[in-house]
Amino acid sequence: MEKKSIDPARIEEQKALCGRIAGLIGAESGRPLALVDTYGCQQNEADSEKLRGWLALMGYGFTDNEFEADVIVVNTCAVREHAEMRVLGNVGALNHTKKAKPSQIVAVCGCMVQQPHMAGKIKQSYPVVDLVFGPHELWRFPELLLQVLTGHKRVFAAEKSEGVLAEGLPSRRDGKVKAWLPIMSGCNNFCSYCVVPYVRGRERSRRAEDVVREAEELVAAGYKDITLLGQNVNSYGKDLEPAVSFPELLRRVNAIPGDFLIRFMTSHPKDATEELFRTMAECEKCAHQLHLPVQAGNDRILKVMNRNYSAEQYKAKAALARRYMPDLVLTTDIIVGFPGETEDEFEDTLRLCEEVRYDAMFTFIYSKRVGTPAAAMDDPFTRADKQRHFDRLMEVSNRISAEKHRAYIGRTLRVLVDGETGREEYNLSSRTNGGRLVHLKGEPALIGQFIHVKITDGNTWALYGEPVLS
Ligand code: SAH
Ligand code: SF4
Repeated sequence: MEKKSIDPARIEEQKALCGRIAGLIGAESGRPLALVDTYGCQQNEADSEKLRGWLALMGYGFTDNEFEADVIVVNTCAVREHAEMRVLGNVGALNHTKKAKPSQIVAVCGCMVQQPHMAGKIKQSYPVVDLVFGPHELWRFPELLLQVLTGHKRVFAAEKSEGVLAEGLPSRRDGKVKAWLPIMSGCNNFCSYCVVPYVRGRERSRRAEDVVREAEELVAAGYKDITLLGQNVNSYGKDLEPAVSFPELLRRVNAIPGDFLIRFMTSHPKDATEELFRTMAECEKCAHQLHLPVQAGNDRILKVMNRNYSAEQYKAKAALARRYMPDLVLTTDIIVGFPGETEDEFEDTLRLCEEVRYDAMFTFIYSKRVGTPAAAMDDPFTRADKQRHFDRLMEVSNRISAEKHRAYIGRTLRVLVDGETGREEYNLSSRTNGGRLVHLKGEPALIGQFIHVKITDGNTWALYGEPVLS
């Protein structure tokens, strides 16, 4: 398949349109104001940074108050129904803000509206929305917003697409310590429950030079914690000429001079290799943290999920990763209540979790997604059955996390201080090399620094510590 890269000249045209918009809206010293509201995954957070980059270039300032905003952009998620319901509820509530400020522009973008039935629903039932655009149109947001501003009509741009690659978009990152760095978009795996391949298109890798250049810029700007993002980073670079493997990319980012950490997500177990684990162990900047979503512990369910590994193969990979990195922090995603999952099959998932002993688990009740193969499968079990399984799994997950966190007590660890908590007793938050949250008390001037802390306490969700002088 031919990859559709957007010509840099077209991005420049979009930048020029930002100047026109600034004139049109009378932008001066950070006014008018925009609000970008983000749902879903880190990829969406990264997309929202680009939306803010565009808005800043148009002259908008930023606000958290939807009554104050002249433009509201809601960047949506389609992975589960729950997220879609929240979006629709919140977009519906914007009727009030628009009534109070009739010139307000409401845009809804992202994965949810890339589904034709959802774009249709917004068109019909949410007249408050002026602009709808899918993830493949983000690079031309200025053009679309200009159409709304000058045409005084609703604009819909969420055509079916295999996806595009656009370099050189402006980005406005919120923090100064941690940064997201997308290395690829889309997904080719078609897990039978998942809507992502339909809304994000096919896998497209950014050129390694572009990724390394952006990482260098981040390091030069003082970022200390860089997370490489992709739906399945392990298939990074297979579409490049010449091909570049993900471990090779890790080595190239690791070679950038400076004191910073490299994290990444997500890693599909079927494509996680020994070479990946060796590279993680050998690259001193690579965090010993691996998010390796297992989804289920039963082989029949894994097969109908189209995951392409068995529970044994998964466990062997997790064990291999831990052989290379004995201090590895291992996390996972699990779906409970996949169509037809029986009590015994669910018990296999519980057993796998007890065996692997994850540091943290992200558990979800299966959500039916329009157009996916799983949506057509028989699902005789009730919501109450699924909830019961979910609660049992949460209990196991919480207990193991608490046990693992308590085992840190008394140890001294190097952490990166990344922000303030707003609480008095433990006013700072930090992360261990493996990504575990550590609350501590200290001067805000420590934010952005690597320091040593002695761990004094731990529960299911976090660790607590005291800075030690090194
Ligand atoms: N590409 C990543 C994650 C994408 S979505 C990966 O493969 O790991 C994040 C998580 O949401 C998935 O790992 C899965 O556990 C969950 N998820 C995806 N589709 C879902 C659905 N239909 N219902 C419930 N959970 C789902
Ligand atoms: Fe969805 Fe599977 Fe792709 Fe992850 S790998 S985004 S779960 S289809």
